[in-house]
Amino acid sequence: MMTKLKIAVQKSGRLSEESLRLIKECGIKFNNGKGTLKAEASNFPIEFLFLRDDDIPGYVEDGVADLGIVGENVLVEKSKGLEINKRLGFSKCRLSLAIPKGEKYEGISYFEGKNIATSYPKLLGDYLSKQGINADIHEISGSVEIAPGIGLAEGICDIVSSGSTLFMNGLKEVDVIFNSEAVLVSSPDMDPAKKDILNKLIFRIDAVLNSKNNKYILLNAPNDKVEEIIGILPGMRSPTVLPLAQEGWSSLHSVINEDEFWERIEKLKEAGAEGILVVPIEKMIK
Ligand code: ATP
Ligand code: ZN
Repeated sequence: MMTKLKIAVQKSGRLSEESLRLIKECGIKFNNGKGTLKAEASNFPIEFLFLRDDDIPGYVEDGVADLGIVGENVLVEKSKGLEINKRLGFSKCRLSLAIPKGEKYEGISYFEGKNIATSYPKLLGDYLSKQGINADIHEISGSVEIAPGIGLAEGICDIVSSGSTLFMNGLKEVDVIFNSEAVLVSSPDMDPAKKDILNKLIFRIDAVLNSKNNKYILLNAPNDKVEEIIGILPGMRSPTVLPLAQEGWSSLHSVINEDEFWERIEKLKEAGAEGILVVPIEKMIK
């Protein structure tokens, strides 16, 4: 039988859409009808299992799935021995401590002896013990933010993205204990044939992620400025320089990182670059 990888992805929620988009951008084709538990790719040896995110680390540990896409928060909370193969850069969020708005907060010692509600007892427990704080951790599985309002706890530790849920429940964020993003995880003991497929998948994911962080840039410059401009453009190896039909001018092509994009563009203009075009890259193999 042909070897296949089984990948666990969230069935529906904040990870699902982007997980499947990434797989599609890797050129992997599959049909997933609504409500199905499994799907198979037609052009890559991979099978999908659609699960609740909380169950993904456990299924990968037990070998039911070979790999999974899950939030790092859930991974650290649930898993013992999984390897992070790749940080995926989506579903970014933070796990924070919050207390009632009117309370005065002067530091983590606020929580000494207090009662904190959370769905992340392990992450919170580890954090508090590192800080030398003894608190009572009250594990609840959902709607953590209402716990102080109903007198269940004096503070909470929960996922925050904008802070508006906290605000609506009369709470304020006081400390970030963990920053999370989606990660690709696998069991550390995978057989060589599967490892081989995993490496092919990671190669494709890298190409997709690199392309997102980079743009292709084209510009024109008078020949006497080309050297200075090359100094500003980074490029995978070095920029491409082509003569323009107009005497004394050149066209330069290169790749530029999203993070330093605007700063470089300004420098390029100052150095005499004209007609600057910036275009997205679909795949980038380094
Ligand atoms: P499930 O039904 O699969 O158990 P869930 O309700 O537990 O889903 P979601 O709310 O879909 O989980 O969140 C899944 C993951 O997405 C979280 O564990 C976290 O890593 C990330 N996440 C949570 N909230 C946000 C947010 N506001 N913005 C971005 N990512 C988030
Ligand atoms: Zn969940």
